[in-house]
Amino acid sequence: MRAFADYHTHTVYSHGKGRIEDNVRAAIQRGLKSIGITDHGPGHFFIGVKGEKAFRRMQAEIRQLQEKYPQIEILFGVEANIVDVDGTIDVPAAILPELDILLVGYHKLVKPNSWSALRTGVKNFFSGWQGKASQSLREINTKAICATVRRYPVMAITHPGLQIDIDTLELAHVCAECGTLLEINSSYAGKLDNYVQAALTTDVRFVINSDAHTPERVGDFTAAYHLIRRVNVPLERVVNLEGAKRGVFRAGEKFIND
Ligand SMILES: [Zn+2]
Ligand SMILES: [Zn+2]
Repeated sequence: MRAFADYHTHTVYSHGKGRIEDNVRAAIQRGLKSIGITDHGPGHFFIGVKGEKAFRRMQAEIRQLQEKYPQIEILFGVEANIVDVDGTIDVPAAILPELDILLVGYHKLVKPNSWSALRTGVKNFFSGWQGKASQSLREINTKAICATVRRYPVMAITHPGLQIDIDTLELAHVCAECGTLLEINSSYAGKLDNYVQAALTTDVRFVINSDAHTPERVGDFTAAYHLIRRVNVPLERVVNLEGAKRGVFRAGEKFIND
């Protein structure tokens, strides 16, 4: 089992430790063909990308690096946050169509867009990192993330069900319908068995990512491979494994098969 791409890595533009170039070099050393630079969206308190200007700087840096390192594909992306109960995300409107890949992660500690988002955010904050929310809160969360998938060209949902309690089976159904992938996150693989098992009962497809916050962890998929074997995920359902049918990821076009 061998993945050829890592679509989810962080840099100093959010709270990663390495520069974009450090991640790119690490990915080349690991033999990857493609790397996503996907820092946290600006709605994340303290750590998000600092607005549109910072996105532009990232984009320019990626273009330069792409010329310097033609042997690897470098994708300009983001791990966006859900900032409202209607599924609104925190990517500036001018940036969204420019992205190569759009990932969405449902996180705590995000600036709310409305009073109901604030109320929901506070309740989620106090329901524990892996704890169960009340049924009504879970329904609000699930409705929000499903609305995000329907509304935006989301390539993948990162670590489903990790920080915010949602109905992952319902999310998987909507993702299958919309062509959005679900992530098998190598940084949190030990906590994701239940969601992957539930998602396997639908037609959804998966993507393996490292969620590296340091260059050393770029392309480290060991825990994800273990999870895939443990839960028996059919390898053809993971889009970035060697031998898998590759698709094209464009923020404006969703996931399209070659
Ligand atoms: Zn995340
Ligand atoms: Zn991340």
